[in-house]
Amino acid sequence: SLSGKNAVVTGSTSGIGLAYARAFAAAGANVVINGFGSPEDIEKERAKIESDFGVKAVYSPADMTKPAEIAGMVALGEKSFGSVDILVNNAGIQFVSPIEEFPLEKWDQIIAINLSSAFHAIRAAVPGMKKKGWGRIINTASAHSLVASPFKSAYVSAKHGIAGLTKTVALEVATSKITCNCISPGYVWTPLVEKQIPDTMKARNLTRDQVINDVLLDAQPTKEFVTSEQVAALALFLCGDDAAQITGTNLSIDGGWTAE
Ligand code: NAD
Repeated sequence: SLSGKNAVVTGSTSGIGLAYARAFAAAGANVVINGFGSPEDIEKERAKIESDFGVKAVYSPADMTKPAEIAGMVALGEKSFGSVDILVNNAGIQFVSPIEEFPLEKWDQIIAINLSSAFHAIRAAVPGMKKKGWGRIINTASAHSLVASPFKSAYVSAKHGIAGLTKTVALEVATSKITCNCISPGYVWTPLVEKQIPDTMKARNLTRDQVINDVLLDAQPTKEFVTSEQVAALALFLCGDDAAQITGTNLSIDGGWTAE
């Protein structure tokens, strides 16, 4: 049970992040949710977490490209709940393009959101975790932290970076009862995957069905998408006492993708 624990989950208004937030809340944790979307939808999800699970949920609008806002998000968690015990760095975006046409601003944005934001959030959260003598840091990496695909230069670079950051932080906090791990999903059916289908159709000259079956599911020997709930269940395990000696690892949940 995570009763008495408080979690911050970045990028939790949608997809995998929302599944993490709901799984932690179901286990009794208070949660700070974060991410973009319409204010009405976000308020609905926030209120639903409180009513479904009887915990407190607050929303931070912090933009993961802005270091000061990221520090503010961690401070909001500490102020609202007294501590941030669990930090999940999950916000992420994708952009698909050949490198010679890759927009400069997309490179900068992906490095900021998918990599640097985790640095800023961890930097802000570690002092509080050390003070409490307990902490869990979980970064959503990707199969693309281990292997590459063409046309995803920024994303693959950021995700490989997240894997390195995870190991480094794990070593730094190893004697402080804080663990730091990353989870590397294969393809999970979320808005992030759905939105890249049109550009992949263009980049590879394929139909929508061909992208789904011959590009996305082709990478996964099981020929099935991973679900957000399965990813969240793994994160929940990492928060438990049984996972106290799991640190600095990169845990794949990818239908066999990176076994090939
Ligand atoms: P999603 O698009 O459903 O959710 C992304 C979340 O990040 C949203 O809440 C969005 O509002 C938020 N976000 C985007 N830019 C932000 C910013 N600047 N500041 C704050 N929040 C911001 O995507 P998802 O598939 O749930 O992806 C979540 C994470 O999982 C990402 O890091 C992604 O790279 C990773 N991942 C996804 C898959 C997959 O197949 N879907 C596979 C491997 C890894």
